[in-house]
Amino acid sequence: MKLKSIRIFGFKSFADKTILEFNSSITAIVGPNGSGKSNIVDAIRWVLGEQSIKSLRGGEYMADVIFAGSETRAPFKRAEVALQFDNTEQYLNSELNDIEVKRVLYYTGENEYYINNVKVRLKDIHELFLDSGIGEDSFNIISQGKIESIINSKPQDRRVILESAAQVLKYKTRKQESIKKLEKTEDNLEKVGLVIHELKDRVEPLKEQSQAAQQYLEFQKELQDLEIALTTRDITSINQEYQNIQKKIEEFTTQKEKLEKENTTDTTALEKKKLELIKLEEEITMYQEQTMTYHDMITKLNSEKQVILERQKYEVNAKKIDENLLTLKEEELDLLKQQETMKQEQSEMEAKQKELKGKRTEIEEEESLLKIKYNHLRQDLLSTQTNLANLQNKAQILKQNIENNESMPYAVKNVLNNPRLKGIHNTIGRLIEVEEKYQDAIEVALGASSNFIVVENEKSARDAITYLKENKLGRATFFPLSIISSRYVSPSILSNVKQMKGVLGIASDFIKCDGMYQNIIENQLGNIFVVETMKDMESLGKETNYKYRIVSLDGELSNIGGSLTGGSRNRQNKALLEKQELEETQKRIEDARARMKSYEEQEEEYRTTLDQKREEIAELDKNMAITEQLIKQKETYIKEQELKIQSVQKEISGANALKEGSLEESIIAITKKVKEAQVEQNQSERKLSDLKVKKSDLSSEIAQLENLYRNQNSKVHSIEQELKKQEIELGKMDTKMDYLLNLLSESYHMTYEHAKNNYFLEIEPELARLKVNTLKKQIKDLGQVNLTSIEEYKKVSERYEFLTSQEQDLQKSIEDLNSMIEEMDSIMIERLKSAFDKIQEQFSIIFKKLFKGGKGILKLTDETNILESGIEIIAEPPGKKLNSIQLLSGGEKTLTAIALLFSILNVYPVPFCVLDEVEAALDEANVDTFGSYLQEQEEKSEFILITHKKRTMEYAGTLYGITMQEQGVSKVVSVRLEDHNEE
Ligand code: ATP
Repeated sequence: MKLKSIRIFGFKSFADKTILEFNSSITAIVGPNGSGKSNIVDAIRWVLGEQSIKSLRGGEYMADVIFAGSETRAPFKRAEVALQFDNTEQYLNSELNDIEVKRVLYYTGENEYYINNVKVRLKDIHELFLDSGIGEDSFNIISQGKIESIINSKPQDRRVILESAAQVLKYKTRKQESIKKLEKTEDNLEKVGLVIHELKDRVEPLKEQSQAAQQYLEFQKELQDLEIALTTRDITSINQEYQNIQKKIEEFTTQKEKLEKENTTDTTALEKKKLELIKLEEEITMYQEQTMTYHDMITKLNSEKQVILERQKYEVNAKKIDENLLTLKEEELDLLKQQETMKQEQSEMEAKQKELKGKRTEIEEEESLLKIKYNHLRQDLLSTQTNLANLQNKAQILKQNIENNESMPYAVKNVLNNPRLKGIHNTIGRLIEVEEKYQDAIEVALGASSNFIVVENEKSARDAITYLKENKLGRATFFPLSIISSRYVSPSILSNVKQMKGVLGIASDFIKCDGMYQNIIENQLGNIFVVETMKDMESLGKETNYKYRIVSLDGELSNIGGSLTGGSRNRQNKALLEKQELEETQKRIEDARARMKSYEEQEEEYRTTLDQKREEIAELDKNMAITEQLIKQKETYIKEQELKIQSVQKEISGANALKEGSLEESIIAITKKVKEAQVEQNQSERKLSDLKVKKSDLSSEIAQLENLYRNQNSKVHSIEQELKKQEIELGKMDTKMDYLLNLLSESYHMTYEHAKNNYFLEIEPELARLKVNTLKKQIKDLGQVNLTSIEEYKKVSERYEFLTSQEQDLQKSIEDLNSMIEEMDSIMIERLKSAFDKIQEQFSIIFKKLFKGGKGILKLTDETNILESGIEIIAEPPGKKLNSIQLLSGGEKTLTAIALLFSILNVYPVPFCVLDEVEAALDEANVDTFGSYLQEQEEKSEFILITHKKRTMEYAGTLYGITMQEQGVSKVVSVRLEDHNEE
């Protein structure tokens, strides 16, 4: 392989196209200082791919190598250098015999490389010269400085020579890269390890939390499906049952009305019958008495007849008869008198009886009026009873709602109902009491803050917020007692406006609450005025420059700045409203109870009065019966008297007849009367027996009616009881229905219709109820769950797995890198060792040759570690024993360095070698040695020498001179040896 020529155009001082042909083994280039000789070396180095402008002795940019212009010439825009090689021996990595390598550079900094005028990449140039010993780092271009540095540098720095000779630099670079990679990988491994460690601590608890949350969701879903289906089914069945009960109530009411109607008729009938019975009994008594009277009359007539018959037997004394007559007449007179008195008494009795009857009718009328009133009262009582049951139900629902916080916003309700959250007091609305008059004003003044939750401290608030957030339950506002402070109206303004018409005071003054909440109440209401009317609000607003909020008793609001809010209003503050409603309901319950009590008392009074009336009637009946009896007695007595009178009169007429002798006629007349009386008596007895039969019939009829009446009464009573029971049942169902519908809407945001169409109960209701309770308990037992843990666990565990596999990959990379480093180390050790051994051997030979004796030794400063060992040069010229090479003369130093250079070139031969004034320090004798050595090597290599030494020139086959005939432009001239004078 041979470097045939170099073509330079526009490179550094070579403005003109210049060709240097290297026809001999040794070519010397000569010329004065600054003529451009070294620029040729730079040009060769540049074509071979040199990238360092410093190595090319340039300024800052590669474009500095382009001809910069001279006094007479303009600067160039491009530089071009080409080397021509003979490659017939295929030394270069190409099958071509002639190879031209060209580099072009434009002033823009753009580089172009060509092989045989075909544009290639720099990489292709490197490949072409691969393993040829030609290149930027190789020993084929030796500059002046390099010779000096071989000697002067420290053993440690000198090892670079060995490394480049042994061509381990690329391994060293790769090793460095691998070490960097290794460090980076180890660093990454450590970081990954830390993260894994951290994640490991989180993964386990998160796994547990996620499982619990998963379990919670499953339970919740199952509970929701089941509870909705069960609730829907319950609503349907309650609805059905409700209708059934309503139907029953209607039936019972009709039955009751019917019975009551019948009852009233029957009572009248019974009363009639009873009256009839009394009359019948009177009649019986009368006939009994009549029979008795006839019986007595017959007896008396018979005794009269007997007396007359007796009298007929005895002689009649006229005087005695007269006396007797006198006595009889006196008796008759007495009897008549007595009878008169009796009759008078009887008519008095009859008048009394009439009066009694009138009174009885009067009382009866009063009684029936009382009965009507009593019935009305009963109806009022029953409806009040139903109303009371309804109100009690309502109160119970309201109480339940308040206790379960049903009317609260969803988030607030959840916070209040969670017993695990500590330090939760209640909502502001629940903690206060307001007089009814101020309800509207306070409600408006509080607005949404009525549902703000008062808590013990900030921690309680934070815990509650975390709970709401983790379970996605919405938002709520918290007022920690430990933080919130009061707000006031400035005392000067207050005293100023207090006297104004209609100004009632500050809203917080109308609140009753526990002292511990005073700050919170004053914070919310301490700077809001309450006035009577909107007009008052206007004047107060003006007076205070609209700096305060003002509410009127009707709930109109003047905001800060003067804007007004008012109109009709939906009651927002359910807490206050519910409390108020509960209070109202309880009041109504009290009223209803009081009414019930008064109705019951009135009922009692009516009953007593009715009883009294009945007693009075009975008393009257008794009196009337007695009077009747007396009248009858009187009648009987009168009749008896009559009979006595008649008897006395008969006796008188008997006495007269006796006096006149007409006894026979008297007997006949008496017998006739007896017969007549007997007929009458018989008739009376028959009538009596008829009446007794009638009485017995009537009595049994009355008994039947009374029985019927009793039965009906008890039926009405039992229907009333049943009605009451059903109405209470209805009330209960209303409550239950409300509760169930509320459950659907509040807990599941669902209407009954929607639930009915989408949820179906597939198991027995009782089993479902049992399951719902079990699920609720299971959910409660799970405690507070963290729903975000599911997603978090997924993320964390995925990342944990990813990082674990990354850790394994990194460990594998570290192993690979370590084994690569080891491999490179062993390659380098082998190469360095072999290079050192060979170079060392050559050095001792060449040293001896160049110094014509003496001893040159190369030594490793650390034989155990060739990879880092320095190289020491021991040089002992003939006859000299030196401790250090620094003690050698300049020429000796150069020769030693040249010996080392040649040793390397011997071990790693190069096809051509450029030596830039390396022999400058040598004397003639040593130049000869140098030149001879070169000649010895010319078979192996081609030498291009830059030199000033004539002696050196003598060893060259071709000699080129470089001049600057034109200032700033190098030119090649042919030179003859004689023309050159030794300096
Ligand atoms: P010495 O014998 O002193 O080492 P030399 O012959 O090796 O000198 P060089 O170092 O090759 O000289 O050339 C230096 C010359 O090249 C300088 O005069 C410098 O101005 C010129 N030169 C360097 N770069 C450029 C450039 N880009 N354009 C024009 N001239 C340049």
